[in-house]
Amino acid sequence: MTSPLRLVIPTLFTIAAAALLATTARAAPSTGSPFYGDTPDKNHPWAIHDQNRPQPKRVEPGTFSSATVPGKPPSDAIILFDGTAATLGKWESDAKPGVVAEPTKWIVKDGALECVPKSGYIRTKEQFGDCQLHIEWAAPTAVQGDSQGRGNSGVFLSGAVEVQVLDNYNNPTYADGFAASVYGTNPPLANALRAPGEFQVYDIIFRRPIYDNGKVVDPGYVTVFCNGVLVQDHTPLEGGGGHMKRTVAGPFPEKGPLKLQDHGNPVRFRNIWYRPLPTRSIIDGSNGFLTAEATTAKRAEIAAGIRADAAKLTGTAAMLRLAESLVYENDAATAAKVDALATAYVASLKTLTGPALEAKKDEAKSVLRALVYLAKFERLPATSAPKVALAEFSKAQGWDQEKK
Ligand code: MG
Repeated sequence: MTSPLRLVIPTLFTIAAAALLATTARAAPSTGSPFYGDTPDKNHPWAIHDQNRPQPKRVEPGTFSSATVPGKPPSDAIILFDGTAATLGKWESDAKPGVVAEPTKWIVKDGALECVPKSGYIRTKEQFGDCQLHIEWAAPTAVQGDSQGRGNSGVFLSGAVEVQVLDNYNNPTYADGFAASVYGTNPPLANALRAPGEFQVYDIIFRRPIYDNGKVVDPGYVTVFCNGVLVQDHTPLEGGGGHMKRTVAGPFPEKGPLKLQDHGNPVRFRNIWYRPLPTRSIIDGSNGFLTAEATTAKRAEIAAGIRADAAKLTGTAAMLRLAESLVYENDAATAAKVDALATAYVASLKTLTGPALEAKKDEAKSVLRALVYLAKFERLPATSAPKVALAEFSKAQGWDQEKK
């Protein structure tokens, strides 16, 4: 590369170029490379450090709540209550099946949604399943009652599983009915409550139970942080818990409303939002919940995508991309095509000498690396003719002695 600047101010140029290279080296993301590391296997559709694996989607983080000011939700949160009367319309009375729901009688006061005792449970009009739920609540400042009678409400996930809301700041009760218990199932790991009147923050991860033909595939789990303290650690649901009776585990709806309990106390809520989580029954590869069959299907899907991509390329790039698809799916027709293209590639390489061959050296090395990798992981036979021929040619040129 030449530059007029280089002639005029060589020192500055050198410094600038060095700085640029240094910056580039730091800033460039490591995307891994194909034909590197362990391949996909029967439960992993992706290779180790797989550069074909999609990048995580961008979410702008929110802010944390202070004792007085609610935090800001992350950018992809679905808002259920933001402190305004406008979001009250997202809620309705928890009418029995077959009965038309009415607008909720709970009220919005000072930026909070307050339970009006004896007006009944409320629920969201929207229904959702697996989620990250954020909800803040405050028991009345004026302490009244004890045990289950003090600042009682509840957060019902999918309308069924209650994460208890109760003023237990200085108020013992039965442990499996404590604030942040999965009610009737599991006490919280700790009492991390603030004093009554102050807002408590629940961050909940809900995974519904999954059944297939009456057989449990996944019991469902709830994880809860109370004021930033872990209080439910991936607690299995056992059907969800209940009052006085254990809930029988069984088929569970995919979606349901979020319900809030009227237990006769004017508990206040604010800053309610959720983020849907990826389902576990599909083959998106996002959470390791893949059967061998689902993994095979996902690998076939990835391979098809790479083959489609290869069809848009030409020359060596097309051959290497096609070879890459074999990492995911051992397709005989593709393997034969790669073998034929590689055979032609080696033959054409052998016609080159001098600078023309030197110019192709790095590319030839990458082709050899691909063929060796595919043979190592049995995507091509160990005796693959182009692999053997290219390895011999590389050795004859002394390329195998060079630093990588
Ligand atoms: Mg309750």
